[in-house]
Amino acid sequence: MNEVLRGIIRTFVRMPQGMAVTLKHLFKKPVTLDYPRKKKPMQPRFMGRHYLERYDDGSERCVSCGLCAAACPSDCIYMEPAENEKGERYAEVFEINLLRCIYCGFCEEACPEEAIFLGHFYEFSNDNRDSFIWTKQDMLVPHPRKDNPFKTLYRRIRHATGIGDKVR
Ligand code: SF4
Ligand code: SF4
Repeated sequence: MNEVLRGIIRTFVRMPQGMAVTLKHLFKKPVTLDYPRKKKPMQPRFMGRHYLERYDDGSERCVSCGLCAAACPSDCIYMEPAENEKGERYAEVFEINLLRCIYCGFCEEACPEEAIFLGHFYEFSNDNRDSFIWTKQDMLVPHPRKDNPFKTLYRRIRHATGIGDKVR
């Protein structure tokens, strides 16, 4: 009988306590996001999918030197070089296996031409493994660019001063 009484008292004490916790959070700003309708802005140093950069005239920056592939700890970059009609090197084939990539950014740091960089895009999930082999056509930035010029400026400053490297 005592046990039953204790149980009833416990219920009447703890129920208001639980309701108080609920009420406390009822009018607070939610900490979750209504994804994918709302997206959290990524930090400037966030590294998502790769892009291949162009010069202002639209020509490709990548000269297929292979330094990014040499720096890659995951060995996920594959390329085949070729020469254009002016005798300039370019990457005829440039592929990245995004399933192996660890998004470390070493390829971006190693590139002498500032040809490859990791942007903020992260929504490339898929149920097909083949879709994670990204080719040059998937990565080349459009020309003419519609990008925010401040992003380009930030990247150039980061490369010139190494500020991002020190923070990382
Ligand atoms: S992306 Fe840069 S480092 Fe990689 S092959 Fe092209 S030019 Fe060389
Ligand atoms: S981000 Fe890192 S792991 Fe991914 S391709 Fe570049 S160097 Fe390789």
